Amino acid sequence: MRKYIFVSGGVCSSLGKGIAAASLGSLMECRGLSVRMVKIDPYINVDAGTMSPYQHGEVYVTDDGAETDLDLGNYARYTQSPLTRANSITTGQIYQEVIRREREGRYLGRTVQVIPHITDRIKQRIAMVGDQPDVDVTIVEIGGTVGDIESVPFLEAARQMVHELGHHNVIFVHLTLVPETAGGELKTKPTQHSVKEMREIGVQPDILLCRAPVALDEELRRKIALFTNVEMDAVISAYDVQTTIYEIPLVFHAQKLDEIALRKLQMDAPPADLTEWQRVVEVLRDSRRLVTVAVVGKYIELNDSYKSIDEALFHGGIANNVRIQLRKIDSEKLEKADDLDQVFQGVDAILVPGGFGSRGINGMVRTAGYARTRAVPYLGICLGMQVMVIEYARSVLGFEDADSTEFAPETEHPVVSLLEEQVNIKNYGGTMRLGANDSRLLPHSIIRSLYGREIIRERHRHRYEVSNQFREQLHDAGLLVTAVTPDDSLVESVEWRGHPWGIGVQFHPEFQSKPVATHPLFAGLIAAACASRSSRNPGESSFREDESAEVIPAAASAES
Ligand code: GLN
Repeated sequence: MRKYIFVSGGVCSSLGKGIAAASLGSLMECRGLSVRMVKIDPYINVDAGTMSPYQHGEVYVTDDGAETDLDLGNYARYTQSPLTRANSITTGQIYQEVIRREREGRYLGRTVQVIPHITDRIKQRIAMVGDQPDVDVTIVEIGGTVGDIESVPFLEAARQMVHELGHHNVIFVHLTLVPETAGGELKTKPTQHSVKEMREIGVQPDILLCRAPVALDEELRRKIALFTNVEMDAVISAYDVQTTIYEIPLVFHAQKLDEIALRKLQMDAPPADLTEWQRVVEVLRDSRRLVTVAVVGKYIELNDSYKSIDEALFHGGIANNVRIQLRKIDSEKLEKADDLDQVFQGVDAILVPGGFGSRGINGMVRTAGYARTRAVPYLGICLGMQVMVIEYARSVLGFEDADSTEFAPETEHPVVSLLEEQVNIKNYGGTMRLGANDSRLLPHSIIRSLYGREIIRERHRHRYEVSNQFREQLHDAGLLVTAVTPDDSLVESVEWRGHPWGIGVQFHPEFQSKPVATHPLFAGLIAAACASRSSRNPGESSFREDESAEVIPAAASAES
């Protein structure tokens, strides 16, 4: 069925458009519909792969190896929509394809223009996902803010789709801001202007999601409806939620967002079953116990750099009925900290995430050593696993210069290196290993018991591998190799022998975790954190809530 919902944003960025679109998608699924999610990023980069996490936040990787915007992670957490390369569209991709066709002479001598050639290609890309027999509704989120030059061709393509498919098949949801003045008054003018801007390019929003610190009263909604030409019941109050972002589908449903969207699309669907979301919210709201997880990374200043990891840790809390407090620590600052006991005081588990480049590496190596020797539950992801290997080779095998060739190309002990270096092929362009592949979990390992099966499929995004040259030596010394690729050629995970819970994985489990289905590694890490906390504080019946600040600034924790 060709039913489309476009989600756009107005007034300013970072209002939570991705979560709003994902929540709407989840409501449609709760009504038994088959949903697809598409993200449009109006930038000229072909994908997010080359962008710094500081620019763009996390790069979300799909099974087929696309490096995409982090909103695809939101879609993955809220919906069941399959997500592949096709679900992430950028201006760069559109132009690349149109120019390629032009060079091939496919436009038969015509002048190639934004309208119709670019807009046609945009519509084709959207149809590739939405125009499929097993799809009921496709939700297309247009990144950026209405009024940006970059998003004009996408809004124009969407406008044409209304014209071609009919208004009952294509509707617009627009997310805006209703700011509060210092005097506590909510202002509707920015919303009015933003809708006016859409109307100027021929698009009339059908539903408004109004972000505001508090719920909008009826009078304000009536005023917005009048000035924007949107029906009053379709002016939805997207107020700030108190407990968790996973409450948003419930907030929207309470205001009948799903019903209104279905009515406008002239669709019938069974009543919504929101039991799973209700359970998630109840656990997060009601659990009294608290565990603290330190995330020791290099991009911690920006909140979104490790988005999927943060969320997966919260999912670990849901699975174990505890609330998670994250303590983000800048690994660079740990390089010189003299007392790690003090830095990690009150920490129940440590996670070292992925990263690129040498800055802050030794802080991560020290962290892995700390977790290993103090029996702190530890999960190392990608780079976080590689630093486990480096630390073990230095401390236990006594190879003081052990390193990854990413950071020390000339080291005598390249325990992590490029595959081609391992077989002595020089000048062989190392491309990243991207996307999902199978791994075989070895018996008698913690990881095998967590997954409960032998073959797993996880996503990768890295260039360097544990060196096969040192693999046996490390394993025999106690850094157990516990997962490998099916052909045994690459190490996929390691564990510290005799440690209560210390696992490093070369892949990215965080991309597959959902609030309603916690990934086993995160469920396991938080279970181990709870056990470690109980054994350190035997008398504690329920963990105190007030013990430390929400996020300890890295400087405060590391400079001591
Ligand atoms: N920089 C490392 C590599 O390329 C790790 C990458 C990562 O953590 N995603 O292998």
